[in-house]
Amino acid sequence: MSLRERLIAAVAAGGPISVAHYMTACLHDPEWGYYATRPNLGGDGDFITAPHVSQMFGELLGLWAAEVWARLGRPRLVRLVELGPGDGTMMADALRAAKAAPGFLAAGEVWLVETSAPLRAAQEAAMAGTAVRWVESLVAVPTDAPLILLANEFLDCLPIRQAVSTEKGWMERRVAVDADGRLEFAFLPSEAGEVARGPCLRRDEGGAPPRGSVLEWSDALTAFGQAIGDLIARAGGAALFIDYGRVAPGLGDTLQALRNHRKESPLAHPGEADLTAHVDFPAFLGAARQAGALISPIRSQGDLLRALGAEVRAAALARARPDKADLIGRQLARLIAPDQMGDLFKAACVHSPGLAAPGFEARP
Ligand code: SAH
Repeated sequence: MSLRERLIAAVAAGGPISVAHYMTACLHDPEWGYYATRPNLGGDGDFITAPHVSQMFGELLGLWAAEVWARLGRPRLVRLVELGPGDGTMMADALRAAKAAPGFLAAGEVWLVETSAPLRAAQEAAMAGTAVRWVESLVAVPTDAPLILLANEFLDCLPIRQAVSTEKGWMERRVAVDADGRLEFAFLPSEAGEVARGPCLRRDEGGAPPRGSVLEWSDALTAFGQAIGDLIARAGGAALFIDYGRVAPGLGDTLQALRNHRKESPLAHPGEADLTAHVDFPAFLGAARQAGALISPIRSQGDLLRALGAEVRAAALARARPDKADLIGRQLARLIAPDQMGDLFKAACVHSPGLAAPGFEARP
C-alpha cells in the first residue's frame, strides 16, 4: 500500500487527520517517509541548506562551539551534539575548523541525533575517521557533562497543526479525502480557540483576526523547547538553532513542500517531498526558558555570521584561492545578505546561567 493509500485508509477509518499527523507520516513513515527512505539534500536533490552553500557556514559554527567550550572553562569532557545533521557536511566542516582550538576536539565527544538510516550512512561517510555516536532522540544524550548543541534546519521539520479563522470561529485545517478519492484540506471544529488565547498570538491579535487567517502551533516544538531547556539547565552549556521562522507571535500559513527545488502543494506527493513549516521561535524559546535555561535575543543569520567573523573568513579563503574569490564572495552574500538567506533565517541560543553566548552579546 502506498503512503497515499495508507493515509486515505486512515481518514476513512478515523476521519480527517491533523496536519501534524500528515507531516509525521510524510517525513518519518518507516516504509514511505521522506527522511526515512529517500532524503535527497544538496544541489542535485530536493533542497539546499546553508552548509551546502559554503564550507564557511559549518566552519564558523565549529569555531562558535570551540569558543563556548573556552567560555565554559575548557571542561575535560563536553558533548558536541548535532540535531538532524543531514548529510553530515556541517559537522565535518565544523570539526575541521575546530582543530584550530587546542584541546577542544580532545575534550569533545560527538553525538548525532538522527532518525533517518540513509542520512546516518551519509554522515558516517562525511565524518569517516571521527568517533561519532548516533542516537534517535536527544533524551538519549547523557547529561553528566556540559552540552554544546548545533541544529540547522531541524526545528522546521517538527510537525505543526493549523487552524483557520472562519465565521464559525477557529476551525482546524485537516487532511481529508474528496469525493473523487483525492487528498484535500478540510476544516473541522477545533481546540485552536484555546490556542489563540495562548502565547501563540499577541494580545492585540487575540481578539478577532481577519477571516481566513491561519494560526499555526506545534506541540512537538514546545515539547522540544522544554526538553532542550531542561537538558541545558541540568548539564550546562549552550544550544544554537538556525532556521527560518518568526521572531514574534503571528499568523500565516507556512506549511511548505519542496521537491526538486520547487515548491508544490503539501498534498501533491506524500512522502516524496520535504515538508517544513516556519519555526515559532517565541513558543520554542519560551518553553526552554520555563524549563530553567536562559535564552539570548534572536538574531538574524546574517548578523550572527558577521559577528562570528564571516567576512574575515571569506577574505582569508579568497586570499588563499584568488581563482575562487568571486565564488566565495557570492557564497558569503548568499549566507548573510538581507535579501538572500541573511534575514529570512534566524539564530537563537539557549544557554546556562553565567555563559555569554558567542555572537549573541548585546550590540553596542
Ligand atoms: N542540518 C542539515 C539537514 C537539515 S534536514 C542541513 O542543514 O543540511 C533535517 C534533518 O533533521 C535531517 O537530518 C532529518 O533526518 C532530521 N530529522 C527530522 N526530524 C527529526 C526528528 N524528529 N528526530 C531526529 N532527526 C530528525
